Amino acid sequence: MAQHFDYICLGAGSGGIASANRAAMRGAKVALIEAKHLGGTCVNVGCVPKKVMWYGAQVAEAINLFAPDYGFDVDVKGFDWSTLVKNREAYIERIHGAYHRGLDSNKVTLIEGYGHFVNANTIEVNGEHYTADHINIAVGGEPVIPNIPGAEHGIDSNGFFELAEQPKRVAVVGAGYIAVELAGVLHALGSETHLLVRKHAPLRNFDPMLTEHLVEVMAEHGPKLHTHSIPESVEKHDDGSLTLKLQNGESVTVDCLIWAIGRRPVTKSINIEAAGVELDDKGFVKVDEYQQTSQQGIYAVGDIIQGGIELTPVAVKAGRLLSERLFGGMDGAKMDYTNVPTVVFSHPPIGTMGLTEPQAKEQYGEDQIKVYNSSFAAMYNAITAYRQLSRFKLICAGPEEKVVGIHGIGFGMDEILQGFGVAMKMGATKADFDACVAIHPTSAEEFVTLR
Ligand code: NDP
Repeated sequence: MAQHFDYICLGAGSGGIASANRAAMRGAKVALIEAKHLGGTCVNVGCVPKKVMWYGAQVAEAINLFAPDYGFDVDVKGFDWSTLVKNREAYIERIHGAYHRGLDSNKVTLIEGYGHFVNANTIEVNGEHYTADHINIAVGGEPVIPNIPGAEHGIDSNGFFELAEQPKRVAVVGAGYIAVELAGVLHALGSETHLLVRKHAPLRNFDPMLTEHLVEVMAEHGPKLHTHSIPESVEKHDDGSLTLKLQNGESVTVDCLIWAIGRRPVTKSINIEAAGVELDDKGFVKVDEYQQTSQQGIYAVGDIIQGGIELTPVAVKAGRLLSERLFGGMDGAKMDYTNVPTVVFSHPPIGTMGLTEPQAKEQYGEDQIKVYNSSFAAMYNAITAYRQLSRFKLICAGPEEKVVGIHGIGFGMDEILQGFGVAMKMGATKADFDACVAIHPTSAEEFVTLR
């Protein structure tokens, strides 16, 4: 006999947990199914451990690049990777505990094990059947490994978080967020790091100013960037080292190879065919603007959906709004996928929201766009021999100069964007930005003093 719920969330990552809790808060009888740890990619092998490593890299940069000119005569005896990893994992354990307490207090039933669809309203876990009026698929994605000889000798981002020792020499292949972030962290922590991209630059789809500046900083002080580098094969040697051969005839020999070439949905493992849900040719779940799949009563949020934005807060918001619509009386509630701010925790960090300059020109016409640029040395490095410019850009459209794009790379940009994101979401114009008195001395003030 199947146990029945109002709502089942399949997958306890960011989207599933947020949606399950919100539905339960609105009075629904809710189950949450998870095979591994609570928190999914973000908490266990994504945003959270990555940010801890990024903070570790910040400490290293502060010691190596800034401390001497601030008067510190620092004698570093060493860097212990395992201490950083131990403390990082302990923090993640505390987050697991907080998630368990949250689910308990909301009376969400946690079902541990792999869930497979039996039919459109039944899921099987460990031989037990569970049915629901509404089912939310929130099982996320997983890293892709290329189909070349020897690829299995490399690891992916999950493997990066399992590294017990710091690799001395490492190659990171890929051009997106993950490749740039991991390469930056490894370089700052002292590994000889190679970042290999198959085209001319990493983060190609970002505003060109961001990409150009990131590449400039990398050239001076960052991982060694190899452009036009398409992997051909990987050879493992007796001493454990790996040689990555490229199609252009070059090769790089390292102790650790990390694939960061994108992620795919994990729809296969949940027997999604039995749910009768339509997928695209890459396996992403097709949903409408209300997260509704092609099957009545089945929804999907997060990295699993076609055309979505693979970011934790997007999954969280979509999941909560879905629950508000289903159980909270908020008819018509839906996620707004436009103008989503995002940060790449590169070195230096990138913050970006809205249209890139090429996109704005195409959408509004070149003569309807005004672009404001600023290039400046943040005060943090004003007194140090190590100099790194920050670059900010505001893209405005129409005679009222509505802000349609905001982009920055430099110290603090990771924290600067959120507030300006609120302004942009409210439809702020350049004049609105200018009307706000600058906070001095900060980097953020550049955005309200652009000429
Ligand atoms: P992305 O899809 O962002 O980037 C992967 C890139 O690797 C591709 O864009 C492509 O770039 C390149 N690539 C693809 N195939 C190959 C190949 N066979 N060989 C070499 N290069 C290849 O994936 P990520 O895994 O970096 O990140 C996934 C998502 O996770 C991101 O889109 C982001 O939304 C999210 N994320 C967010 C973070 C944050 O908020 N800070 C941090 C980490 C991830 P090109 O075409 O230029 O070669």
